[in-house]
Amino acid sequence: MSATARSLPRPDADTRPFWDACRRHELRVQQCRACESFRFYPGPICPSCGSTANLWQRVSGRGEVYSYVVVRRAAHPAFAGDVPYAVALVELEGTGGIRLPARIVDCPLDQARIGMALDVGFETASNEITLPVFRPVDVRLADTAFMLNLRRNP
Ligand SMILES: [Zn+2]
Repeated sequence: MSATARSLPRPDADTRPFWDACRRHELRVQQCRACESFRFYPGPICPSCGSTANLWQRVSGRGEVYSYVVVRRAAHPAFAGDVPYAVALVELEGTGGIRLPARIVDCPLDQARIGMALDVGFETASNEITLPVFRPVDVRLADTAFMLNLRRNP
């Protein structure tokens, strides 16, 4: 690995189902079979009831920004070409409040807001790893309106 190669997640026994799903462009969250609570970070034991029985529930991929930061200085040379960019804790719809850390993409940074509605997308990072990213729903609609207006008024 070169000095500027990105370090990527390394799937293990607990996280491999998440990464396998991302490769299929599905967002899945670990859920307890006994008490049905969702959990993140993945692990072998339910923190709510102690059960070891779990499944990987497919979720809608919609959510909202719980919190975010704009990274303006790369912490590693591999990210120097990416700054500035936004990283959010995305509260996932239908999961009882699971918050997934991920990048916000296709969004002007000055339009990022707490509570902003997001939808998941996927970016292939390597043969093994596909990363979930999130796009703002409203900005995408605004961009579409802008493009339609351009076509009407060239
Ligand atoms: Zn449980």
